[in-house]
Amino acid sequence: MTQCQHVRGDGTPCRATFGLRGGFCWNHDPTRAAERAAARAKGGKAKAAKERGLGPKDLPGELETAADAARWSSWATRAQAIGLIDARMAGQTFAGLKTFMAALDKAGREQNLEQRLAELEEQWSEERAQLLARIAELQGAR
Ligand SMILES: [Zn+2]
Repeated sequence: MTQCQHVRGDGTPCRATFGLRGGFCWNHDPTRAAERAAARAKGGKAKAAKERGLGPKDLPGELETAADAARWSSWATRAQAIGLIDARMAGQTFAGLKTFMAALDKAGREQNLEQRLAELEEQWSEERAQLLARIAELQGAR
């Protein structure tokens, strides 16, 4: 995966892999210095994701499973840490993930209930068949 070409003061590379433009992340792109200054001047107000060069390809993919949610959570934490998204956007992302997880949990419980009901119905139909057979036996013995 391509990552930001910036090398930090201590010699370690910047590990940002999203929002890259010209090989650099939002924080390190020399051509976006003016945008960064303007963003700071606005008191840290976030620029629209689109203006920052953040597109769908930079997002952590599908959000359908708990594992996806974990990946999104990790992404939002890192994106906020490097200033790609602001605290408000990160907060909205986490709130969305929380809602998603609650819905996933509910769907999982409902699926379990349906499965349990199907098992009980199957069990009952076997017991009923045995009961009918036993009644027939008793009636036959009379
Ligand atoms: Zn960087």
